[in-house]
Amino acid sequence: MITLKIKDLDKLKKKVGKNNLLITCSNCPYWNYPRETVDEIADKLNAGIYNVDEICGREDITIDVVDYDSVLVFSCGAGTQIISKILDTEAIPVADTHPVGAKFGETIQTYCQACGNCILDQTAGLCPITRCPKGLLNGPCGGMQKGMCETGEQPCIWALIFQRMEKKHKLDDFLKINMPPVSGK
Ligand code: SF4
Ligand code: SF4
Repeated sequence: MITLKIKDLDKLKKKVGKNNLLITCSNCPYWNYPRETVDEIADKLNAGIYNVDEICGREDITIDVVDYDSVLVFSCGAGTQIISKILDTEAIPVADTHPVGAKFGETIQTYCQACGNCILDQTAGLCPITRCPKGLLNGPCGGMQKGMCETGEQPCIWALIFQRMEKKHKLDDFLKINMPPVSGK
């Protein structure tokens, strides 16, 4: 799912009035955060909560927002724009939209930057654009130590790609990988 990071609520509070509405999408916010977090955001921002089922697939949202000082939206950036368009109102996001993640227990890790030019067929199904901190397309870099990334926080993704291709007897293909930069990197 799309990963969301809640903005600085103290800063947001200075932008909004005393009687606000927090529109939440039923999907990504509740995948990223527990329900209690949504309640805490609403409480802090003096907002009632109105949940909309999958904002990104809706063309028919009917909410009377005229009496509210501010309309806040907890969704991805697309959802916030859809609310703004359909309700013809200023919409304030309460979260920043990040790339696509996977969830393991309570931990969310980013796996895909949605680059629009998927190269997983060349990299044994592992994404260096997202999972190498430098986004290198021809790693590993000189900082790799015993299979670990120089950050010390994770295995070097290029070491994993090498190991997987070695297992499949595809090291000739590994040596050919020297991809041009993907747009946006
Ligand atoms: S190459 Fe990586 S960032 Fe691009 S689409 Fe594939 S998984 Fe996503
Ligand atoms: S050690 Fe590997 S994962 Fe870490 S920055 Fe270098 S190439 Fe990327």
